[in-house]
Amino acid sequence: MTTEQLYINGKFVPARTSATLDVIDPATTEVIAQVPNASDADVEVAVGAARAAFDQGPWKDATAQDRGRVLFKLAEIVRGRADELAALETQSNGKPIVEAEFDIADVATCFEYYGGLATKIHGDVIPVPDNAMSLALREPVGVAGQIVPWNYPLLMAAWKLAPAICAGCTMVLKPAEQTPLSVLALASSFADAGLPPGVVNIVTGLGEGAGAAIVEHSGVDKIAFTGSADVGKVIMRGAAGTLKKISLELGGKSPNIFFADADFTTAVEGALFGVFFNQGEVCSAGSRILVERSIYKSFLDAMVEKARTITLGPGADRQTKMGPLVSREQFDRVRRYQELGKLEAKLALGGGPASGPRLGRGYFVEPTIFYDVGNSMRIAREEIFGPVASVIPFDSEREALDIANDTYYGLAAAVWTRDIFRAMRVVKRLRAGIVWVNHMHATYVEAPWGGYKQSGFGRELGKWGVEEYLNVKQVYINLSEEPIGWY
Ligand code: ADP
Repeated sequence: MTTEQLYINGKFVPARTSATLDVIDPATTEVIAQVPNASDADVEVAVGAARAAFDQGPWKDATAQDRGRVLFKLAEIVRGRADELAALETQSNGKPIVEAEFDIADVATCFEYYGGLATKIHGDVIPVPDNAMSLALREPVGVAGQIVPWNYPLLMAAWKLAPAICAGCTMVLKPAEQTPLSVLALASSFADAGLPPGVVNIVTGLGEGAGAAIVEHSGVDKIAFTGSADVGKVIMRGAAGTLKKISLELGGKSPNIFFADADFTTAVEGALFGVFFNQGEVCSAGSRILVERSIYKSFLDAMVEKARTITLGPGADRQTKMGPLVSREQFDRVRRYQELGKLEAKLALGGGPASGPRLGRGYFVEPTIFYDVGNSMRIAREEIFGPVASVIPFDSEREALDIANDTYYGLAAAVWTRDIFRAMRVVKRLRAGIVWVNHMHATYVEAPWGGYKQSGFGRELGKWGVEEYLNVKQVYINLSEEPIGWY
C-alpha cells in the first residue's frame, strides 16, 4: 500500500490535516493506497500557488511555442510511462488493462494535439468605420478549477489539463476520490516536462469538501467539471457566488437506434459495445437500445447470445472484457437498478451480481439486458452508469426520434442504417451533442465533445476545448491625432 501526498507548487506536500481516503482495488476490494482528504485550507494553498503562478510567475511570459513544447514533452513522458499508468488505471478503476492502454495512448495524443494547437491560437483584427484599429486578443482565462470523474481517470484529467496549459492558464485539479493515483503519478513528471511550479496543482479529496472549496473559491476564474448531472447542478450553484465561467460535461441516457436495414451482425456488436464498454461506466453509453420492430426479436436474441460470451474478470487479466464496477457504492447503485428493471420490464440476460472463481470479492455485476422497456420507465430515464441495457421497440422513424429525444439528457446518440437519406434526417433531428452513424463511441481529440440539454454545456477537445480556457480582450487603437471634438 502506498501513501500519497498533494501536489502543490511543484512539490509533493502533506495535507494540513491528517485525514485520508482509502483507494480500493475494486477487483479485490483491498486498500491499495491512501491519499489526503484535502481540506479548505489545502485548497487555499493550492489556489494561492496557481494564482501566483498565473499573476507573477514565469508562466505568464511563456510563449505559445514554450507551452506547446511542454505539452509535446508531456505526451512523450506519458508514452514512456504508459505501462505503469495503465496498470494504475486498472488497479483503481477496475477496467480491463487493454482498455486502460487505449486510454493512456489517448492521453498522450491529447497532450500532443494541444501542443500543436498552442501556436495556432490567435485573435482578430476587426475593420471599424474610423481611423482606428480594433483588435480581439485571446488571453488565458486565469486559474482553472478542474474536477474529474473516475471512469477515465487520467484521460478526463488530460482533456482538462491539456487545453488549459495550451491556453496559458494555471490550474487546480481534483481527481475523483476513487481514482486519484494515475494523475498523481504523472505529476512526478510535470517539472521534467517544463511546467513551472504552481502551474498545475493536484488536490485529492471529497467532492463536497475539496471539490466544493475549489468551485467556490474567489481566486478561481473558471470551473471545468465532468460528472453526474446532479453534481453539475450543485457546481453551477456553487460557481454562481463568484460568477465563474463554467463548462459542464454531464451524464446521458443515450439512444442507440437500429433500423432494420442496418448490417445485422455489425449492429448487434455495436449495441453491445455501446452499452457494455468500460462496464457501462461511460457518460455517452448507449443505454437505450431502440430497435425497429421487424428485427426486434432476432436482434434481441442475437444480443443475448453474444453478450453471454463477454468474459468477466479482474482487469489485469488480458482475457477480461468486463471488469468490476469502480466501488461498493457504484455496485449497490447498479444492483438497485437491476432489481428495479425486473419489476418494470422483462429480463433477457443477467440481472444480478456476478460471482465465480476469477471474481473473488470484487464488485462484479452481470451484463444485464432488459427488453420490452417503455421509455417512461425509470431504467429508461435515469442514468445507471453500469452494464444495464434497456431494449425498446419502435415502428417508425418518427417514433424512434420521439423516443430518442424524450429524455432530459442530450449527450450522445447513434443511428444504424444503410440509408444515407434516413441517417441524415435522423442526425438532424436528434437533440444531442454527439451523433454517431453506424458506430458508437468513436472519439477523437480533434472533434468536439459535449452535450445538449441537461448533459451540460461547453465543449471539450478540438479547437473548441481551448476556447473554454480563453477570454477575449477587445483593444481599440486610435490612429487619429485629432481631438474628439465633442465639447
Ligand atoms: P459519480 O456520481 O459518478 O461518482 P460525481 O459527479 O459524484 O460522479 O463525481 C465526479 C467528480 O465530482 C468527483 O471528482 C467528485 O469528487 C466531484 N464532486 C462530487 N460532489 C461535488 C461537489 N459538491 N462539489 C464539487 N465537486 C464534487
